[in-house]
Amino acid sequence: MQTANDSPGLPDERGHFGPYGGRFVPETLMRPLLELEDAFRDARRDPSFQAELDGLLRNYSGRPTPLTRACRLEQHLGRCRIYLKREDMNHTGAHKINNALGQILLARRMGKRRVIAETGAGQHGVATATVAALFGMECEIYMGTEDMRRQALNVFRMRLLGAKVVPVDAGSRTLKDAINEAMRDWVTNVHNTHYLLGSALGAHPYPWMVREFQSVIGRETRGQVLDRESRLPDLLLACVGGGSNAIGLFHPFLADRAVRMIGVEAGGRGSALGEHAARFSGGRIGVLQGTLSYILQHEDGQIAGTHSVSAGLDYAAVGPEHSFLHDRRRVEYTSVTDDQALAAFRLLSRLEGIIPALESAHAVAQLVEMAPSLEPRALIIVNLSGRGDKDVNQVSEILGDTPGA
Ligand SMILES: *Cc1c(COP(=O)(O)O)cnc(C)c1O
Repeated sequence: MQTANDSPGLPDERGHFGPYGGRFVPETLMRPLLELEDAFRDARRDPSFQAELDGLLRNYSGRPTPLTRACRLEQHLGRCRIYLKREDMNHTGAHKINNALGQILLARRMGKRRVIAETGAGQHGVATATVAALFGMECEIYMGTEDMRRQALNVFRMRLLGAKVVPVDAGSRTLKDAINEAMRDWVTNVHNTHYLLGSALGAHPYPWMVREFQSVIGRETRGQVLDRESRLPDLLLACVGGGSNAIGLFHPFLADRAVRMIGVEAGGRGSALGEHAARFSGGRIGVLQGTLSYILQHEDGQIAGTHSVSAGLDYAAVGPEHSFLHDRRRVEYTSVTDDQALAAFRLLSRLEGIIPALESAHAVAQLVEMAPSLEPRALIIVNLSGRGDKDVNQVSEILGDTPGA
C-alpha cells in the first residue's frame, strides 16, 4: 500500500483533506478512534496482514474483477472506447466486500469479537454479515425501519448469515439514523466491538482507511488498462454515494494529470432541496456524523431530507476527500436524474447482458449524456460498483411488465 504522504490528497495525521475531514466526535469516541487509527497504521506496515487480505480478496471474493470491453454500448454511443470495471462480479455483488474484508481482519487483530455496522439499502449490512460469518464473529446491523420495509430481502439475507438486524425507529428511520445508533452502541461496547463503517465517510481514520481498502479497484484497473491498451484512460466515471467506490477507482490515478475523472451524484427528481442527493450542487459545508464536508442542509443547519431511486446514493453528506478533490478541481462532480439512471439500467442490460446496480447506472447515464461531446476514440472506464439483482423488484414496480419497451 502507499503511505499517506507519497500520494496526492493527503490526509495529514489528523485526517484532514485540506479543510475537510477531521474528527468531530464526542469525547467518548476519541479513544476508540485513536486506537483504530493506531491498529490500521500498524497493520498496513505488516506484510502478513496485506498477504492475508490479498488472499481473501482473491480466493473468497473472486478478485481480480474483470475489465470488460462494452462493444455494443460503444456502437450505440459511437466514437469512444468503453471498458467496465466489474465490481459487480465480487462475492455479495458489489465493491463493499473489499472494505468489509479489510476491516474484519483489523477487528480480529485488535482482539474484537463483535462487529456492528449501519446499513441503508442493506448492501453493506450483507457484506458485513458475510465477513462476520466467515470469521465466526457476533454481528449486529443497525437499520432504519423504513429501510427494513423497503429492503425486506436483504434483512432476510443478513439474518440467514447469522446477523442480528436491529430496527432503528428514530428520525427519518433511514441511514443517518442507523449510523447514530451504531455510534451509540460503539461507545458502550468498544472493549469487544469494532464499528465496521461502510463508506469513505465519518471521523478519521475511516475515510482514509476505507479509501485504502477500496483502492484495490484503481490499482487493478491501472494494470489491466495498461495491459490491454498500452495507455492510461482519458476518463474515469463512478457514482458517488459516500464515495468509496469512486475514490477507490480514482485514487491510484490522481497523480496522472491527463486522466479526467467524474463523480456522479444522485439528481433524483429535481433540483429542489429534498428531491435529490447532489451534495455538490445543492450542499453547503458543515459537519455530519464526525466529518466536515459538503452537506445538504437547510438555512439553519438542519440536515435536509434526500431522495434517490437508488438507496445507496441517498445520503446528505459526501466523503471529505471528495470535497477536497472538488475544491481543487481535480475531480468533476455532476448528477443525473432518477429517470436517466433507469434508462441506463435498461440500456446496459439490453446491450451488454449486464444488469447494473441502480447506483452504478448513474455512472453509465453520465456517459450516455456526455458521449456526443467526447473526443473520437476517447478511452473511458466506468466503475460498475455492483449488480442490479437487488434492484429488479423495485424497477419492475416502476416500469411495469414491459421493461424492454
Ligand atoms: C453502497 C453502494 C454504492 C454507494 O456507496 P459508495 O461508498 O459511494 O461507493 C454504490 N454502488 C453500489 C452497488 C453500492 O452497493
